[in-house]
Amino acid sequence: MKLILASNNAHKLREIKEILGGCFDEIVTLREAGIDHETVEDGETFLENAAKKAREIAEISGCCALADDSGLCVDALGGAPGVYSARFAGVHGDDEANNELLLKKLENVDNRAAHFTCAVVLARPDGSEVSAEGYFYGEIAHALAGENGFGYDPLFYLPEYGCTSAQLSPEEKNRISHRGNALRALLEKLHG
Ligand code: IMP
Repeated sequence: MKLILASNNAHKLREIKEILGGCFDEIVTLREAGIDHETVEDGETFLENAAKKAREIAEISGCCALADDSGLCVDALGGAPGVYSARFAGVHGDDEANNELLLKKLENVDNRAAHFTCAVVLARPDGSEVSAEGYFYGEIAHALAGENGFGYDPLFYLPEYGCTSAQLSPEEKNRISHRGNALRALLEKLHG
């Protein structure tokens, strides 16, 4: 059976192949499947957005499709930026501006607790779905540190590692990240 990843992100493809590779004959990106489609992510939850993306690709392709949606939830901000993580400061994907705004909003705030959430949904062409969520807990640092990763990683401090997630190697991060945890939970559901 073929699985289409509802994304063109090579890092996501590699991580998904590592965890779900044994469940499918082939896992390909949208581009590799010859699909040019962008889902409007207007859901109020990570799960809604991931389900919408997966359903649309399963319908278009007639194959199984896997989509994910993730973001950062900060306790002191009532769970924000949440589903708006990529465009917290206004411009989609402006990591520098997003991190700057986050630091500003947490100026003089003692409670720095935060977590990343990732929802993954596998949609089949017969309309059935399997979904799972994964989490990654840490704290928002007072300054940027680290060159790896993306998004909020330079501000996401992991007390038990004594560094930010941008200071972990990609392999180390995948072992403990929200996306890795969500994919492992999905794998358990598929095998269960
Ligand atoms: P996406 O759902 O993977 O596209 O992620 C949406 C946004 O959430 C990204 O643009 C980042 O701002 C943030 N985000 C999600 N996962 C991570 C992560 O592992 N590290 C840092 N930022 C993340």
